[in-house]
Amino acid sequence: MAARLGIGADGDRARAQRKALLGEDDATTVFETSKEVTVITTFDQMSLKEDLLRGIYAYGFERPSAIQQRSIKPIAAGRDVIAQAQSGTGKTATFSIAMLQKVDIQLRETQALVLSPTRELAVQIQKVVLALGDYMSIQCHACIGGTNVGEDIRKLDYGQHIVSGTPGRVFDMIKRRNLRTRNIKMLVLDEADEMLNKGFKEQIYDVYRYLPPATQVVLVSATLPHDILEMTHKFMTEPIRILVKRDELTLEGIKQFFVAVEKEEWKFDTLCDLYDTLTITQAVIFCNTKRKVEWLTEKMREANFTVSSMHGDMPQKERDAIMKEFRGGDSRVLITTDVWSRGIDVQQVSLVINYDLPNNRELYIHRIGRSGRYGRKGVAINFVKSDDIRILRDIEQYYSTQIDEMPMNINDLI
Ligand code: ADP
Repeated sequence: MAARLGIGADGDRARAQRKALLGEDDATTVFETSKEVTVITTFDQMSLKEDLLRGIYAYGFERPSAIQQRSIKPIAAGRDVIAQAQSGTGKTATFSIAMLQKVDIQLRETQALVLSPTRELAVQIQKVVLALGDYMSIQCHACIGGTNVGEDIRKLDYGQHIVSGTPGRVFDMIKRRNLRTRNIKMLVLDEADEMLNKGFKEQIYDVYRYLPPATQVVLVSATLPHDILEMTHKFMTEPIRILVKRDELTLEGIKQFFVAVEKEEWKFDTLCDLYDTLTITQAVIFCNTKRKVEWLTEKMREANFTVSSMHGDMPQKERDAIMKEFRGGDSRVLITTDVWSRGIDVQQVSLVINYDLPNNRELYIHRIGRSGRYGRKGVAINFVKSDDIRILRDIEQYYSTQIDEMPMNINDLI
């Protein structure tokens, strides 16, 4: 008795709700995935270099995400590719892995160039490349405005396999001949919709003219409006198009329970009683507000429990650090608001606690549902106050699923 989102009238309703909630818009999706695209479900099967594979696993990735399963291989094979997927689905890692696969480490010359709309993004990409290429002696430079030009020149003169930059500074360095383009095989435009929009288009074109004619072009974006897609004919050759639609989530394989707590104040003791259960694997605890996340985190720590916490008001950098810590297994319990459920699947999480029931049905499936591609199974426990029971029954009915009272032997089920 499982519910799949996106089927039938209820599914459509759910989609509309989610769209309104997350501000997403399907209208920009104007193409289908090319027929020739194949799906490769493990990194091992992608014929990647040994030291690159090592870097990927050391970074904490176990399985490729949907966009990675489809795009890494064709990009690494030298095809022009247009890849579209929501943010947070692993696009940066997609082209970073493909670039690392393609560069000849022995040749310390720039072979791949990534252009991004912001300096922060360019630096973030450089970091991902350096981390994934940790075992490859990769040289990757962030060539961005607002930094010391002399330092840029020195770094480029030393030789960089990959350059990640913003268009203005990159063009400047190319004109001065400090960024030598002779060996560039691949140009990646991240956030391509923005890059090919009015503000950047001329600058991109300026850079493009300096690249060898055979340079492979890869466009990556969360949205690709029609006019931008039209434009790609001018500088791409028989591009492969890869579109990953938003996740289809299912409650299949997830055991769902509730614990009845008469009052809000009882939730805390209930959670403490469950702490040993939480740490059997890894657990995520959802609260509805950031204030509650902060409060609960502090209270748990006061009671000498080890927990991590994250919410939407934290800077992305901090969130990434916390996610990394959690994904690496350094922390086993994460307290969070719903930001987390929009991120990528953390594969080892098999227990989710709704400390607060979510405010709508959509969030419920996003917190505890799994996307088929990862095949995760798990347990979800809902803390319900007396007046929450009604909401729980509504969720149960909406997804035609079953939510039973938590049994005593819960540990055996995890
Ligand atoms: P995008 O570029 O689509 O916004 P990112 O490449 O920045 O997405 O990935 C989003 C988050 O997911 C990052 O924290 C990244 O480290 C993580 N991530 C990417 N690919 C995987 C994977 N295969 N397994 C686990 N985590 C991943």
